[in-house]
Amino acid sequence: MKTVLITGSSSGIGLGIAREFAKTKQFNIIFNGLETNGPEIANEIGKEFGIGTMFSNANMLKPEELRKMVDDGIAKFGKIDVLVNNAGIQHVSAIEDFPEEKWNAIIAINLTSAFHLTKAVWKGMKERKFGRIINIASAHGLVASEFKSAYIASKHGIVGFTKTMALEGAPFNITANAICPGYVKTPLVEKQIVDQAKTHGIPESEVISKIMLYKQAVKEFVTVEILGQAAVLMASDGASTLTGVALPIDGGWNAQ
Ligand code: NAD
Repeated sequence: MKTVLITGSSSGIGLGIAREFAKTKQFNIIFNGLETNGPEIANEIGKEFGIGTMFSNANMLKPEELRKMVDDGIAKFGKIDVLVNNAGIQHVSAIEDFPEEKWNAIIAINLTSAFHLTKAVWKGMKERKFGRIINIASAHGLVASEFKSAYIASKHGIVGFTKTMALEGAPFNITANAICPGYVKTPLVEKQIVDQAKTHGIPESEVISKIMLYKQAVKEFVTVEILGQAAVLMASDGASTLTGVALPIDGGWNAQ
């Protein structure tokens, strides 16, 4: 059995990715997130698929909690083979009004937490000559939109960090890749629909068609299943040369 640690996996995309790893029955899963039902989610998926699970509510803003989550995971499962940096937040606002504390939190949660966690798992991966790091960036890791300055800076940042990980990890069979989703209908996006409606001064119903899916050629929300399947592929033993990539799964948004 291998072990995968997925941040922000008690909700949305992280939970969808966890389910795809669980389906393979080849991974124990360390769940994480701020949702209070996180322990139940971890238990239920463990029972459903007959795999080992644990839950940590380590806060991405607190590096010491992240290091403890890694230590607890290693104490329970012996090692961490795959790290999925997925936890993330968003705030939508014009630059001149963008609250400084929101900027700092977005950079810390979406980018800096991935540094602390990668650093914490790196030595073990290097020693075992196996590691897979998957960063959930965004289509906004490759292109920008207005009113999301901190998010776009953080997601471009994680794409850059992914490339450095890939280069430093190459001699040790540690790969690093980013997945860049278009819009996925999760709690994070439900909240944006409300925020965007306010910022643009249009009804919420128009936000989906006129703003969100406007940039995607395929006018469908991206599913968590396809993102999870991509992550499982990137984590596989055979994917040793799949590294340093930022893979858009965005309905053709980046093709334009
Ligand atoms: P979500 O709100 O459903 O889930 C976010 C998860 O991160 C939750 O489990 C939450 O508890 C956790 N989290 C947030 N702040 C945290 C903190 N301080 N400490 C620990 N955990 C914290 O959102 P989602 O849509 O599933 O987003 C997951 C990732 O996918 C994010 O990085 C997001 O930027 C990215 N993404 C989302 C979309 C989309 O359309 N939903 C598109 C592209 C990229």
